[in-house]
Amino acid sequence: MVATDRVYQLIAEHTTDLVCIHDLENTIRFATPSSKSILGFSSDDIIGRRLTDFLAPEFVSEMDFSTLTRFFDHPGSRIRYQVRHGNSNRLRWLESTFSRIEEGNKKYSLLSSTRDITESVHLTDDLMNALSTEQQLSRFKSNLYSVASHEFKTPLAVIQANIEMLKIKKSPKVIDMGLESMEEEIDRLNSMIADMLQLKKLTMGKTTLKLEDLSLMAIMEDVVKNDCTKAFPKINTTLSIAKGEECTVRGDYSLVRYIFSNLMVNACKFSKDNTRVKVSIAFEDNFAKIRIEDQGIGIPKEDQASIFTSFYRATNVSNIQGTGVGLSIVKEFVDLHKGKISFESSPGKGSTFFIELPYTLDI
Ligand code: ADP
Repeated sequence: MVATDRVYQLIAEHTTDLVCIHDLENTIRFATPSSKSILGFSSDDIIGRRLTDFLAPEFVSEMDFSTLTRFFDHPGSRIRYQVRHGNSNRLRWLESTFSRIEEGNKKYSLLSSTRDITESVHLTDDLMNALSTEQQLSRFKSNLYSVASHEFKTPLAVIQANIEMLKIKKSPKVIDMGLESMEEEIDRLNSMIADMLQLKKLTMGKTTLKLEDLSLMAIMEDVVKNDCTKAFPKINTTLSIAKGEECTVRGDYSLVRYIFSNLMVNACKFSKDNTRVKVSIAFEDNFAKIRIEDQGIGIPKEDQASIFTSFYRATNVSNIQGTGVGLSIVKEFVDLHKGKISFESSPGKGSTFFIELPYTLDI
């Protein structure tokens, strides 16, 4: 008998699952020491409390608390829920099963067994994310490529029409105009092909985002230095942190850099010399909030709803180079990061683009 007690004691002391005995009110009356690693509190600390006391507020807010608590004293139920580990902000996924103690009494009536399933939840999420990233990207690319095949026809048709005209009219003025127009269309074709190739390069073999901790300030500094200041030396660019301490953001470096570069180059190229582009990054509420403000030509009201559509260019771009592809890719990449993008613009006064990227893409 003594030997059996010792065996039970050894099991209780060494089990990696958290085993608790609850009374009729569901209050914990006994807990194994594994409570420390599972909940972040010692067994002494959790005695007298309920498992529901440890639920993470963000998890509870998504569920009705009274519905939730019913599962916690239901023999045979298996419930998955999120807790904050100890006094930290670290969220962990736990799974508990409950069984009635047959010959129990008021004090010892229910037994629960709880394990940490955070890793397996994240593995499943990663797998689902990888699947949806792959599906989302391939849908986006096939749409873009099918629109592109139509878009390629326009410059080709213009070139063809010019050739026909030059065959008939051979005056120097017509020749000059025809050649100029053909050169413009060839530039446009080249830019479209370059955009397609860049998208292909950025997403080649990409079944999932290559996530790492990114310093957005460092990426933006690199974009300002290499993509803006060199090409647009007369635009005055300022970069600052608006709110909070700099935090890293989980993201795919090449896609985030593309987002910043496209928005910054747009801000510069749609602005006149000697104006400023003001960039600020704020870190608050688990989001990095990036704001890019220019004093450029702005976007006419009637074009505003369409600028994220592939190949759409606003009516006021006149001869400023571009294909209308960049922003649709930017929107897609922001979506893949579960972020948001929006803008405000006054024609003739300037535009401000806002992006929000969550610190983490994990649950
Ligand atoms: P583009 O190759 O023309 O720059 P984008 O897809 O990057 O293509 O942008 C789509 C259109 O949105 C642009 O052609 C332009 O009309 C408008 N646009 C984007 N950013 C700005 C900006 N900062 N100022 C004015 N117009 C802008």
